[in-house]
Amino acid sequence: MRLILIGPPGVGKGTQAVLLQEKLGVKPLSSGEIFRKEIEAETDLGRLAKSYIDRGELVPSGITIEMMGKRIRADEVRKSGFVLDGFPRTIRQAEALDKMLDEMDMRLDKVISLEVDDEVVIERLSGRMSCTKCGEIYHLEAKPPKREDLCDKCNGPLFLRSDDKPETIRERLKVFHENTAPVIEYYAGRECLLRINAEGDPSEVFQAILDGCK
Ligand code: AMP
Repeated sequence: MRLILIGPPGVGKGTQAVLLQEKLGVKPLSSGEIFRKEIEAETDLGRLAKSYIDRGELVPSGITIEMMGKRIRADEVRKSGFVLDGFPRTIRQAEALDKMLDEMDMRLDKVISLEVDDEVVIERLSGRMSCTKCGEIYHLEAKPPKREDLCDKCNGPLFLRSDDKPETIRERLKVFHENTAPVIEYYAGRECLLRINAEGDPSEVFQAILDGCK
């Protein structure tokens, strides 16, 4: 299957992408996660991306499209299918993805729009922590790790994302409404768009996704 998860920051795209991988065997491709790995490895791309990410702004689309294009075209991903998390985030990226898929003679099965109010986003992001090794996501109140600052799954150290600060969260929400909400409209005329209320807990949201993908 070829799926896209669209939604504001903190709506749970990363969590749902992992659940979809476990259930359907699709490869999760998270643009934010790929940028964070590049930053950690101190590559040129990482340095460039960091300057935008730390301000809550979008990394320029040309760079992002090239980076995601390489992964989407990989043989392994052609075979497994994918779930895109965080890409496309602009109309330009959505058009580039359409072109890429056309060239590979492939189509999207579902575009899953995860929808919550801005207040829920702010609450969820303040207190979010991720594992540096496996990417598992925790929340200080809603899903605390069993041991402080350590991942339950792989023992990796947990970290708070530098762009989860209140002022950056507000900027990321603004960017979402201005740039990414129009992407949902871009897909609205197609049968593949699935709108999901994502206020419930992750297992309920996951079930709604599976039901909608039948
Ligand atoms: P995320 O982990 O999806 O919340 O992404 C973290 C940050 O990475 C975003 O706030 C952007 O700065 C950058 N980013 C991730 N995906 C994209 C994208 N498709 N286009 C531009 N910037 C992106």
